[in-house]
Amino acid sequence: MAYDEKTLQALISGELPWAEMKDIMSGTKDPERFGGILKILQSMVSFPEKILLPLTPHLFIVQKGPERIVKCDCGYEFGDYRTNWKYFSRVRVRDSEESLKALYHPDQGVDPEWMELREFYCPGCFCLLETEAVPPGYPVLFDFQPDLDTFYRVWLKEHLD
Ligand SMILES: [Zn+2]
Repeated sequence: MAYDEKTLQALISGELPWAEMKDIMSGTKDPERFGGILKILQSMVSFPEKILLPLTPHLFIVQKGPERIVKCDCGYEFGDYRTNWKYFSRVRVRDSEESLKALYHPDQGVDPEWMELREFYCPGCFCLLETEAVPPGYPVLFDFQPDLDTFYRVWLKEHLD
């Protein structure tokens, strides 16, 4: 089913009532929705580069000349999308009992011997972009590396057929 721009806007901003969102999630997928979502996201950012794919609520893969880079909605550029953008972010590591206690209830049994919490911030706007809870010393997670060419080839093909 196709949804109007107002509904998609509410979906993106998290203002859509659960019942309506559940219908969208469990309903037949609308092939036009991806294009509609991209259009709305593009209208929400102030940079001119074309959004190819949203990564998080604040990060996008965009086409900048011949390059595909990760860009924050504030305009900060993290570089090639195939390199983990987290390496270019500001990081706060909560690896002490005191720093973890600020977030977790003592009954939750968070132990800095077993876990550290990494917070990744945008160097441009200091927005919290992502967190990861991992064993101390665990490699930085690379959340998502899409196969953009295949995705667009398949998506465009479905749209042209
Ligand atoms: Zn930013």
